[in-house]
Amino acid sequence: MALVRDKDGRRLHVKSRLMGESLVSKEFIDNLDIAPQQRLYPDVAIVKIGGQSICDRGAQALPAILKEIVANRADHKMLITTGGGTRSRHIYTIGLEMGMPTGIIARFGSMISDQNALMIATLLSPWGGVKISHSDIVKLPTYFAERIIPVMHGMPPYDYFAIKPQVGRIPIHRTDVGLVILADLIGSQTVLFIKDEDGLYDEDPKKNPDATFIGEIGAAELLARDQDDLVIERPCLEIIQNSEVIDKVQVINGLVPGNITRALAGEHVGTIIYRQK
Ligand code: ADP
Ligand code: MG
Repeated sequence: MALVRDKDGRRLHVKSRLMGESLVSKEFIDNLDIAPQQRLYPDVAIVKIGGQSICDRGAQALPAILKEIVANRADHKMLITTGGGTRSRHIYTIGLEMGMPTGIIARFGSMISDQNALMIATLLSPWGGVKISHSDIVKLPTYFAERIIPVMHGMPPYDYFAIKPQVGRIPIHRTDVGLVILADLIGSQTVLFIKDEDGLYDEDPKKNPDATFIGEIGAAELLARDQDDLVIERPCLEIIQNSEVIDKVQVINGLVPGNITRALAGEHVGTIIYRQK
């Protein structure tokens, strides 16, 4: 590529379509012609084991879920991520009470999610469970060649750079968001949230037992409904809708035996939230 100087002769540029642009202009970004995003590992199913919903149930829930994951290892490449759960909520409460900024609260969240990743990788280790770091994501093909089940913590590593939300200081990008960001990164065709309810309802079914189940809904429509509470973190919806590679995510009840297997096989169990055209 040719080197060119500004008209005034001061700045030296490498000639390209982004040359001299602030990268802020809406019109410029709208009209920028880019290649379609590659799906890096479309055949890798990416699976979050809930923190509060699953991990915190310990022996009541985890062994059956891990057994089902192991039983699927021969047929599916799975990347496991973990939520934080009750211990995150505990330290968030104390941190907020003590005036901690958003970035410190987010760092707490990463640490707790990491504890759950360590425990799940350790429990899975006889069947190839290995705890990996976020930067190991590009090594996925090597792990699967060795029949490893990679496990990593699910908090997106904004940590001290977590942005303060409009209200309060609980970071809005937590482990559900982490799963969706990773799904966009690797172009997963299967994105599973393993939780403790059958899927999405119009209200929290723990608070209203008469809440209406929603089996399938578009991310844009769900955003527009502006429900008071959701089964996955709210920013997930915008990320799904803006993605070039995520077609859908699925929220399933991991406490029902067989649901993980059925969802991995492409069956519609739980709720599907899809990207609307
Ligand atoms: P995780 O531990 O996997 O992050 P959470 O406990 O944070 O899971 O979120 C799942 C919980 O969200 C469900 O157990 C349910 O009580 C609650 N919830 C809130 N709103 C909804 C809704 N509209 N539909 C379904 N579940 C909801
Ligand atoms: Mg949660």
